[in-house]
Amino acid sequence: MKIASSVYLKGVFAGACLLGWGPTAYAEIYQVADQAQYKKISENLQPGDEVVLKNGVWKDFEIVFRGQGTKDEPIVLRPENNGDVILTGQSNLRLAGEHLLVKGLVFKEGYTPTSEVISFRYNNKELAYHSRVTEVVIDNYSNPDKFETDYWVALYGQHNRFDHSFLRGKRNRGVTLAVRLNSSESQQNHHQIDHNYFGPRPTLGSNGGETLRVGTSHYSLTDSYTRIENNYFDRCNGEVEIISIKSGKNIIKNNLFFESTGTLTLRHGNQNTVESNIFFGNGKAHTGGIRVINQGQKVVNNYLEGLTGFRFGSGLTVMNGVPNSPINRYHQVKDALIQNNTLINVENIHLAAGADSERSAAPVDSNFSKNLIVNQSQTSPFEIFDDISGIEFADNLVNFDTQAFGQGFSQTQYAQLKRDNNGLYYLPGIEQGARIERVLQKSETGPAWYSKKDLLKPLNSGKSISVASGSSLADVIASADSGDTLVLAAGDYTVSRILQLDKAISIRGEKGAEVTLYPQRGTLFEIQNKGSLALYNLTINGAKSPDSTGNVLIRTKKWGMYYNYKLLMDQVDVRDLDVNKAFDFFAAGARSLADEIRITNSRFSNISGGVLLLNKETDDLGIYNAEYVTLENNQFSKVQDVLLDLYRGGRDESTFGPHLSFQHNKVFQVANGKRNKTNASLRLHGVQQSLVAENQFVDSAKIVVEHTVGDPNTVIKNNLFKNTAKPEVKELVFEQAPTAILNNNRVE
Ligand code: CA
Repeated sequence: MKIASSVYLKGVFAGACLLGWGPTAYAEIYQVADQAQYKKISENLQPGDEVVLKNGVWKDFEIVFRGQGTKDEPIVLRPENNGDVILTGQSNLRLAGEHLLVKGLVFKEGYTPTSEVISFRYNNKELAYHSRVTEVVIDNYSNPDKFETDYWVALYGQHNRFDHSFLRGKRNRGVTLAVRLNSSESQQNHHQIDHNYFGPRPTLGSNGGETLRVGTSHYSLTDSYTRIENNYFDRCNGEVEIISIKSGKNIIKNNLFFESTGTLTLRHGNQNTVESNIFFGNGKAHTGGIRVINQGQKVVNNYLEGLTGFRFGSGLTVMNGVPNSPINRYHQVKDALIQNNTLINVENIHLAAGADSERSAAPVDSNFSKNLIVNQSQTSPFEIFDDISGIEFADNLVNFDTQAFGQGFSQTQYAQLKRDNNGLYYLPGIEQGARIERVLQKSETGPAWYSKKDLLKPLNSGKSISVASGSSLADVIASADSGDTLVLAAGDYTVSRILQLDKAISIRGEKGAEVTLYPQRGTLFEIQNKGSLALYNLTINGAKSPDSTGNVLIRTKKWGMYYNYKLLMDQVDVRDLDVNKAFDFFAAGARSLADEIRITNSRFSNISGGVLLLNKETDDLGIYNAEYVTLENNQFSKVQDVLLDLYRGGRDESTFGPHLSFQHNKVFQVANGKRNKTNASLRLHGVQQSLVAENQFVDSAKIVVEHTVGDPNTVIKNNLFKNTAKPEVKELVFEQAPTAILNNNRVE
């Protein structure tokens, strides 16, 4: 029974007729202006009722939307106008009941106080069924403690739909959208996830950065019947899995993956169908395709182009399994059908991947046929790690040598390919490869009323600002926009405060000018959330820094960095950071992650501390401090502590990095100080890709490489080590000979 009260208006005004959900004579439209009003009316919603939230900002609103609608008369929750109700602070939404419809809400500038932003359940007992959430936005709604786990959307119950929504910028740990199968009421769920825009998800630097997951290993032998269709995955770079399927009989169809690192992984569960999806890698690092594990998986009519990923992140990976595998390991591939896929300029296809003493069960009863695989390089993308006689190869068309297979392949040429009007390559008049009529457009996904334009302006994307000698850099930075470049006239700049960067700022000495910055505080730059820094053509001199121990010239916020950042330097002279003990050049804050640190053509001299301290993951739980570190053509001299401490702890294999390129550097009298606890000039712990080449190390501490998990690729070659011990490589986890490649180094 409804009670008339001033908190709502009777649903008798004209608006009701225009909404089109056909409320009956008994249905109400509740205009709600605040949380108290919502609470009052929400206790007793009836089929056909409609709750309309007043336009505006709603702070700390934990919405519980509960009721029993019917198929013809759902209970509706919506804003006055789509996109004009903004839920901020500690807001979230829980649905429980049947035939509920939520539409048009925006979550931003905050994060959920619970473990989910939108949950299709109220609690363990009250779930949602036959309900739909459409045209909602969750934009940068991340917990600032990056290590706190939450989901943005969690589907429970059965027959629910999540569609035309916009999810962008999840920066803390936890899957963006998870389908949960953790009770029988949520299994065989027949959910539909369609026409969503999954916007950029930055590298997490740890496990838990998946964009979409269906099930967990524990329930993976259960069928889910979830359909994932017509979604756009735009630069979803969280970790090695973009989508992680961990249940059976799901359909993943007509989705588009744009420049996303990682793969669609059929991690657990059987009889899933991956059909007519498009992967565009555009040559970006670690862009992958589809990874096949388990039984009865169908991978048909997919189009993959320009993918660079390798190993488990390849364009196509068929794994080896573990005989009688425990539920959380790798089940053998059986009855896989891989047919009519097109792979153009896909660098790697790995078969029987991961074969080792544990994963010894090669694929069986599988079929690989009518695929079109063509590379401009004419080199074979195939790598085979075990017996593949359990895969039947038939009628594939390729343009490279296939002697390793014997049969099942015939030849074509790259020049025969044509670009179709839909942007996809095809070969006229053949039966191989994918047939895809329409390519999903970004504009067909997400709500039409919410812009998909990137929010953050990158370094060097804005205007130049001329700065006169002696100006206050703090003032200039305060008035600059993100992406701007400050161009400093010749002269000295004394900096009396910490320059706090919550935007992307470049500082460049004018061409040919002598520009010197003298910090007067223990720190010159603090990179904060949304901040990045580039320095070019200038000198930083520590002579006027405070005479206290433990200064750090550049650092991130010490805690609470949940935006990734970049630090770029070229032709910078850093000197005399030695007014007191342990003056470091750069130190990362806990859980901070640099997308890139690139230092080139620069000089570092007289430093009483270290140069790059990327070693704050001391708990070994996750989130290392830098994804790409590039140090090339630099000189480092008289540095007391470690030059580079790059540390990735833990035993998780869900990340690609860190990556290091250390080339053409001169290292002189570095890392000999007694405070250097690493006893190393470079300490590389758990780094996945390291290239240390063409450097000179003189009178310096040795390089220490500590391999942990993953498949670390370490190459140390063509270096000179003069009065410097040779590199030390250790395997900390696996009892095996070190896998690093040391080649052509000279030790004098
Ligand atoms: Ca994962």
